Amino acid sequence: MSGRCCGKYSTVSKIFELLKANKLAPLKSLSQNFLIDNNILDKIISSADISKSDLVIEIGPGLGALTERLAAKAGKVVAIEIDNKLAALLSAQYPDPGKVEILHADVLKTDFEKIIRSNAKKSVTKIKIAANLPYSLTTPILVKILALRGSLDSAVIMVQREFAKRMTAAPGSRDCSSLSVLVQFSAKAEITAVVSENSFYPKPNVKSALVRLAMLTTPPVNVFDENLFFAVVRAAFNQRRKMVKNTLVHGLEMEKTAVDSALLKAGVSGTRRGETLSMPEFALLSNAFFNVREVEKITQK
Ligand code: SAM
Repeated sequence: MSGRCCGKYSTVSKIFELLKANKLAPLKSLSQNFLIDNNILDKIISSADISKSDLVIEIGPGLGALTERLAAKAGKVVAIEIDNKLAALLSAQYPDPGKVEILHADVLKTDFEKIIRSNAKKSVTKIKIAANLPYSLTTPILVKILALRGSLDSAVIMVQREFAKRMTAAPGSRDCSSLSVLVQFSAKAEITAVVSENSFYPKPNVKSALVRLAMLTTPPVNVFDENLFFAVVRAAFNQRRKMVKNTLVHGLEMEKTAVDSALLKAGVSGTRRGETLSMPEFALLSNAFFNVREVEKITQK
């Protein structure tokens, strides 16, 4: 792979050259839709605001279009690629693992905290993630990213546009879901670009968006038990058109009296619909559940 990267034509032609020269075809099974649009690649770099004191973890580097730009800006890049051939190509291009380290691995089985620990040194001040994600794995990868709240500065990820809308949806809005609450509990999320299918080869059959997650050092609300909080949120959104008192009885498999008591304690009317609750109301509600007798039953689920 050469270091050239100027103009849309060169990225497209480079991707085609690399595929042809290495007798590769994009694999649908690995969600391989390579970025061919320099403007979008540059947008990822500017959204991630990368400097020489950053350790950047890239998920799914593919043919390396983003890796090349990250390497030019970051102190170090660790890129995790599952595809044997692509990982081998990249390892050959980047022989110095002190600068760009290619991990031939499944991101879902990768211990991110271990990567962070093994790269801990004075010169590294921030840990960032940048990725054009394999869309089939967006949810489990996002869950892994959010779990890094304490260690990670930020993440800039390409996802399906509908997914991006749900990640960034305001409470009570049409797109708000349990995912919105889950994301916004750990990060400030914003869409930094909407991306056409023409920016990829091959073209995906969905529209895309770039989302920046600025990780929060402390959650926006105080909850006694995060697992219980998320269980309450998921249960409340489970049956969108039903009253929250019924969705909670059903979703948490709790007695009606216990649900009524928690709702009363939290000051939330049971006749409201789950998706109208704000993050502070979810926190009050889950803390109220924490204090009722059935809490043991919920947390053991
Ligand atoms: N970053 C490249 C780009 O923007 O052109 C490629 C992005 S492509 C959408 C997703 C990449 O993730 C592919 O290279 C694919 O092989 C890789 N991938 C898919 N599943 C993976 C997994 N479980 N672990 C690591 N990489 C994976």
